[in-house]
Amino acid sequence: MIVAVHPLAGFDKVLHYRAPDALVAGIDVGSLVRVPMLNRFTLAVVSQLDPVPDCPVEKLKNVAQLVYPFPALTPELLSLARWIAAYYAAPLDMVIEAMIPVSVRKGLALKIEKRLAVARELSVDELETLNRRAPQQAKLYAFLKLQLHPVAKSLALERLGVGPSSAAALVQNGVLREVDQRIERVAYSDELGSAEPVAVVPPQLNPDQLAAVESIRVSGEKGGFAVHLLQGVTGSGKTEVYLHALADTLKAGGGAAYLVPEVALTPQTVARLRGRLEQQLGQRVVVWHSSLSEGERLDGWLALASGEARVVVGARSAVFAPVRNLRLVIVDEEHEPAYKQDETPRYHGRDVAVYRAKLAGAVCVLGSATPSVESVNNVRRGRYKLDRLPIRIDDRKMPQMYIVDMRHEYMSKRAPAVLSRVLVDKLHDRFGKKEQSILFINRRGYSSSLLCQECGYVAMCTMCSVGLTYHRADETLKCHLCGEVKPAPLVCPQCRSPKVRMRGSGTQKIEEHVARILPRAKVVRIDTDTMGKKNRFREILGEFRTGKIDILVGTQMIAKGLDFPNVTLVALVDADISMHVPDFRANERTFQLLVQVAGRAGRGDRAGEVVVQTFTPQADAIQFAKKCDFDGFIEGELKTREQFRYPPFRHLVHHVFRGENAEKVLWVAGQWAKLAEAALGARAELRGPSPSPIERVKNEYRFQIWYFTTQVTQVVGELVKLQREFPWPDGVSQTFDVDPMSLS
Ligand code: ADP
Ligand code: ZN
Ligand code: ZN
Repeated sequence: MIVAVHPLAGFDKVLHYRAPDALVAGIDVGSLVRVPMLNRFTLAVVSQLDPVPDCPVEKLKNVAQLVYPFPALTPELLSLARWIAAYYAAPLDMVIEAMIPVSVRKGLALKIEKRLAVARELSVDELETLNRRAPQQAKLYAFLKLQLHPVAKSLALERLGVGPSSAAALVQNGVLREVDQRIERVAYSDELGSAEPVAVVPPQLNPDQLAAVESIRVSGEKGGFAVHLLQGVTGSGKTEVYLHALADTLKAGGGAAYLVPEVALTPQTVARLRGRLEQQLGQRVVVWHSSLSEGERLDGWLALASGEARVVVGARSAVFAPVRNLRLVIVDEEHEPAYKQDETPRYHGRDVAVYRAKLAGAVCVLGSATPSVESVNNVRRGRYKLDRLPIRIDDRKMPQMYIVDMRHEYMSKRAPAVLSRVLVDKLHDRFGKKEQSILFINRRGYSSSLLCQECGYVAMCTMCSVGLTYHRADETLKCHLCGEVKPAPLVCPQCRSPKVRMRGSGTQKIEEHVARILPRAKVVRIDTDTMGKKNRFREILGEFRTGKIDILVGTQMIAKGLDFPNVTLVALVDADISMHVPDFRANERTFQLLVQVAGRAGRGDRAGEVVVQTFTPQADAIQFAKKCDFDGFIEGELKTREQFRYPPFRHLVHHVFRGENAEKVLWVAGQWAKLAEAALGARAELRGPSPSPIERVKNEYRFQIWYFTTQVTQVVGELVKLQREFPWPDGVSQTFDVDPMSLS
């Protein structure tokens, strides 16, 4: 048999080989094989059986080895890889490499352990004879006879002081048998933070939950591809709906994937999932996250690929897990930008999940309290079904939200305030009552916009409706979408105040302020530093849960998923940082952030309060969040997006040029832009080149071009073609990002 294979070696081309007869039975589309290439062996994925060979059959080389006796990629995953490569302008071999974990690609040997068990019981006479003739063998037999399960051979021999020849003799006579047992390295939940025991008995679903489960079940039974958007306020029981849908799918014999933005941040969800599916249904759940060891990853992967396990839970890359007979894909917090991978292949986990479900003819459930504008638009266009959970479980109240106008704080003190009077009072109050508080500030502290601290004026680009970026070096304001440049004003154009320069407060500064106000309180900070240290992060969350910490100061990454019943106050210290970044999604992000943050308050029986500090209290994102009015917010947001023809009304492709010589990079980008504009014609609108908001990274200057288009597949195809033909000079590199999630 002849096979077409795709090598995984930075070599983006299909090659033909001959499969030796002995391998034919085991080889299939998607099989991982080793093939001779350029005087060495390389890994490759079989992409086609019996292709028309591209040279005389006698000249073809032989496939050297089959790495696993089952396909590493299903035909469906292989199609998915091709789609990702084309859609996200990434080389196919890099996509395939992203799909198959390193340990699998290496063909890492499984750790196999020999175990011994009794195969045939000896009669009393036989045993007596054995006792006389070979006491060692008799001892081993007697020991094993009393074991419930096969015993590790090495262990048994060592314990009894018996030599391997005795075991061999008994095996030869058929008295004992040797079994190979794969050692599973299951990632236990203690890997995932303080996962508490979970109620295994499912609660009685409320009518909204029942309706959602039913709606998903109907789609599943109908067969074929369908997408459901499950929109439910925080604490409305979405996870419970997922668990039911998962159980239904597994009971019907299907496989499922459950994606979450970050596994380490959702230990409670993982614990609930395992409790329900493992303890109750006896289905092994494969947990897929970044801190798995290679062995653990391999075991989980093999369990799925071989069909031993049928459900995976994990972050973005779990969308590639080789789940067999995939019937259900769940994407929780579907609006999260963390689903976008920020290196090649720059795919969006949610969008890939939808496409994979489409290829598999499966049901995809996207869930969120604050669905993305893109998904809501798909509901409106009739592409997705909408299931809503409008009330919190037990009808718990949404917390009261206080919007603090920081302009007043500024005027009363004539100095920038980090913590407002209202917030300080409330922090005192909670500490006095032994209740806990969380202070959030934004992940991105870079303060690149221009905002007046007296009147709330924000410098915006009139063409693009995004905030202008303040460049300190040359005292200018630049729009990094269209490239417009103007001098940065010295006083506010609206109120003439000189206080127009943005300031940002880091987590550390806030921690210090709080410590000064409440010297007796235990204040702890969580930021990217602490996040890096897995154990420290887990410890902090544990201490917070047990009440050893009074006030937690952290970035929005801790706003997701975590459930602390004793937290009755949460504050967003500086809502403006997320609102005035130069990104058309800034309002959407701010709205989502406010709703998520509010969802952290009052999870227990006490009512919660939320304090939001801002210089622009009248902003839509803030006003609609205060009223919990998602529909109102999205209505306005869709209008703006439509007016400026931003996603979801057009696709965006971000093209970044980098190099040490700024002039050269800009010149190349300019040459490229001319060619690209000519090649794309009316199919795309091109903006730039303009400097990136962060102009210089690691000694490299960065310029960018934006393409706006409704025909993204053709435009990307055209750009990739042009990229191949363009005479790239040394010292300039460039990358595409299709459907970017961040505009920086
Ligand atoms: P969400 O995912 O929307 O935030 P969850 O599914 O986590 O909501 O539900 C919030 C809490 O309410 C959880 O503790 C969950 O066990 C509980 N819960 C969910 N559904 C019900 C129900 N129908 N009856 C009682 N408790 C429920
Ligand atoms: Zn002003
Ligand atoms: Zn502009």
